[in-house]
Amino acid sequence: MTTSTQSNHSDQRKQSDPATSGQDDIILDIRHLKKYYPVYKGFLKKVVGHVKAVDDVSLFVRKGETLGLVGESGCGKTTLGKTIVRLHQPTAGELRYRFEDGGMRDILKLNREESFQIRKKIQIVFQDPYSSLNPVKTIYESFDEPLRKHNMGNRAERKAIISRLLESVNLRPEYMYRYPNEFSGGQRQRICIARALCINPDVIVCDEPVSALDVSIQAQVLNLMKDLQQELKLTYIFIAHDLSVVEYMSDRIAVMYLGQVVELAESGALYQTPQHPYTEALLSAVPTPDLNKKKDRIVLKGDVPSPVNPPGGCRFHTRCHLCQDRCRTEIPALRKVKGTDDHFVACHLAETEDAI
Ligand code: SF4
Repeated sequence: MTTSTQSNHSDQRKQSDPATSGQDDIILDIRHLKKYYPVYKGFLKKVVGHVKAVDDVSLFVRKGETLGLVGESGCGKTTLGKTIVRLHQPTAGELRYRFEDGGMRDILKLNREESFQIRKKIQIVFQDPYSSLNPVKTIYESFDEPLRKHNMGNRAERKAIISRLLESVNLRPEYMYRYPNEFSGGQRQRICIARALCINPDVIVCDEPVSALDVSIQAQVLNLMKDLQQELKLTYIFIAHDLSVVEYMSDRIAVMYLGQVVELAESGALYQTPQHPYTEALLSAVPTPDLNKKKDRIVLKGDVPSPVNPPGGCRFHTRCHLCQDRCRTEIPALRKVKGTDDHFVACHLAETEDAI
């Protein structure tokens, strides 16, 4: 029986540590990452609590894979993505990245110059292509800025890079002289993807990249992202609430609830044999194309509790239809599911291997 948060995450730590898991294809190893936001009150703006948006998350990402992050709004997936690209400074934890010499180092401990260099290796594509591009700058100007910042060629070379990038997302090079309002939503998102690629990143955090787009063009953008991934050997962290989209894109998927990972597995295993009641509930709401196959929908009771004061024990216990007494007091560790290599779940009722 485990009752403290620290000890309960020893399994996550084990599975996320390349040294212990023997996986040298890991490009990013996130350890015990936390992002808390202070809550202020009163005239003196006294800190009265913290929003625990990301609370002790440990995950690794393999080079060339797509790791999907799913969960309801407010579960912390976007905060986790933004913390990985350092748009938010983490409250605690480590972000270990594999450097060109093969070694892994915590990028939160780098000096200013190293930090600047590493930032170009991890880029982000945002959900809303309408607000991601500066409306008063041409596409050329928007692309040229990061290229110049990272000393990538002279003017002619930079122009050639921008031409190639636009072609790689199936847009004409001469479009570089146009303004964002001259493009459709799908074209703008392709431009945003090209801009994220301009400084040769290894990892791209894709934060709901198609959810603001018309359904008819979502597949186009997703297929383009897959092609670019193969061609450029990119690693994606793919954040979405649409489970069908995540299944289509991801090799492995992490399910988040109230700032924590509650299940992590290969995409096929997660969809076919979900182990966590929350994952089961999310999947039961996905419509199936086979009309003869009826699914029993699991309706979650109540709302997601406040991340300022999350429930004790299992954080999901207030909404879980399988909740038992121990769930209210004992924190379930993220443990390996029995008989699997790569399937982890945090639930007392799941058949897992003993704590390591
Ligand atoms: Fe439900 Fe208990 Fe499992 Fe939490 S630990 S998901 S409350 S059964």
